[in-house]
Amino acid sequence: MHCPSCSCVDTKVIDSRESEEGAAIRRRRSCTDCGYRFTTYERLENQPLFVIKRDGSRQPFDRAKVSAGIQAAVKGRPVEDIDIMAMVERIEDKLRLVGGDVTTSDVGHSVLDELRATDEVAYMRFASVYKNFDDAADFRRNLRCCRSVRPAPNARGGSARTQSLRR
Ligand SMILES: [Zn+2]
Repeated sequence: MHCPSCSCVDTKVIDSRESEEGAAIRRRRSCTDCGYRFTTYERLENQPLFVIKRDGSRQPFDRAKVSAGIQAAVKGRPVEDIDIMAMVERIEDKLRLVGGDVTTSDVGHSVLDELRATDEVAYMRFASVYKNFDDAADFRRNLRCCRSVRPAPNARGGSARTQSLRR
């Protein structure tokens, strides 16, 4: 198993556990060279994770895209890169546990859950651009869930409101 960060071939398993009710084994690995940590799954059949977009198209889950979305939301906030990597991993784990395909809405909700637990400002920024995950209805529902923010007068339009959230 090559390290996805430095391509070193020497990685070690630091944790191993069953997931999906025993249908898969999840392994946490650490690169012995650069220390990068990542997760692998062992299954009877290789099952790539697909995301169904609102227009019905199906795309492979894109870790980099999720990471970029989180990075944009946490810009200038006290969130380290290593925290972002951990968030992306937990999101992927969670989505894989759903089994089968997931939707862009599932991805968006998972990101919101992670951000809510990490940084409130980043959470609100992401919620404000949630339309990029194609689900305005879910965006509004999430906005209402957050008690510290006034309801947006034009939330229906889903326009980005990061300016008003800046501290
Ligand atoms: Zn490495």
